Amino acid sequence: MLVFCVECQQHNGRLKLADLPDWDWSEISAHLKCTFCGKVGWVDTRLDWGEVVDFAKGVSG
Ligand SMILES: [Zn+2]
Repeated sequence: MLVFCVECQQHNGRLKLADLPDWDWSEISAHLKCTFCGKVGWVDTRLDWGEVVDFAKGVSG
């Protein structure tokens, strides 16, 4: 999962689901803390597609 802060729009890194406690995702999100502005629970999580789609290479070839 990719984690972004809603407050400051900084990228807070990646999480492996296997490394997280066995909580509901909403619970986990509510406990995540931004490493930049320190907000807790102000994070947006997204599926990490980086290993599937390489945006740096693009599709226009
Ligand atoms: Zn932040």
